[in-house]
Amino acid sequence: MNFENKEYDAKFKELISSAFDSGRLPHAIILEGANATKRLEFASLLAKALVCSEDEKRFRPCGKCANCLKAESGSHVDIKTVMGTNKSKTVSVEDIRRVRSDAYVVPNEAERKVYIITSAHKMNETAMNAFLKVLEEPPSYVNFILECEDKAMLLQTVKSRCASFRLGELADDSVTKKKLEASFENAVKIAEAISSDSEFEMMKTLGIFEKDKDGLKLALEEVILILRDSLALKNASANCLSQNIECAKKLASGMTAEKIMKAMDVVNEALQNMQFYANHNLLLARLSSRLKD
Ligand SMILES: [Zn+2]
Repeated sequence: MNFENKEYDAKFKELISSAFDSGRLPHAIILEGANATKRLEFASLLAKALVCSEDEKRFRPCGKCANCLKAESGSHVDIKTVMGTNKSKTVSVEDIRRVRSDAYVVPNEAERKVYIITSAHKMNETAMNAFLKVLEEPPSYVNFILECEDKAMLLQTVKSRCASFRLGELADDSVTKKKLEASFENAVKIAEAISSDSEFEMMKTLGIFEKDKDGLKLALEEVILILRDSLALKNASANCLSQNIECAKKLASGMTAEKIMKAMDVVNEALQNMQFYANHNLLLARLSSRLKD
């Protein structure tokens, strides 16, 4: 893909290019990031690349063909920017219904038809639900680009039907950032409970996650890093990965290497088995007792 000398981070460009140039760009993608202008700018560039008639994908958009010129001037009939027609400019269920029926009409001029769904994080649940079927099986010539602040604000069912790309930083107050911060705090609590040897402490700590499977997963992933770091510290290695070195130090001084490794096994096993437990509380109970064995 041709990024037209616009500035995007190298990792983002590499991910997009490898998908786009090989013709493997999924039909529905989420573009998340704090900067709305940047998101829209890239969504338009990608839409232009998708309608461009240059043969070699890596040179698209060529900026010269009729499709590119129309896209550039905002008048390409096969690129539809869905802004929301109500007062708050929020894409509503009516807007999505219009997209849904329009998507089955073949493109006019280009080979593809592109829908940019703006501020997708503001869609309500009804709108998102109305979108699901066409997102899952869009006509072969359709691409959907959902641009949003943070994909954590989209329904899981929407996310699971799209590939997502992060464009720059998320906002400091974004759901994802808050969740990550909470998971670091919770990871420290779990790690401290592991070293405390009190079954009551462990049950109390894991109790936080009774209704929060995602939160448990994030926290356990960080616990693994803390445990790993405490082992590294025991071996006098400075190579630490977690965000919680102080906690790792405490564990390293209070636990034997054998105990740390066993805890790592138990936590890893819980992470792997998580998807198989229909009953989340059973997983918590088992985790709690295994960690205190
Ligand atoms: Zn072109």
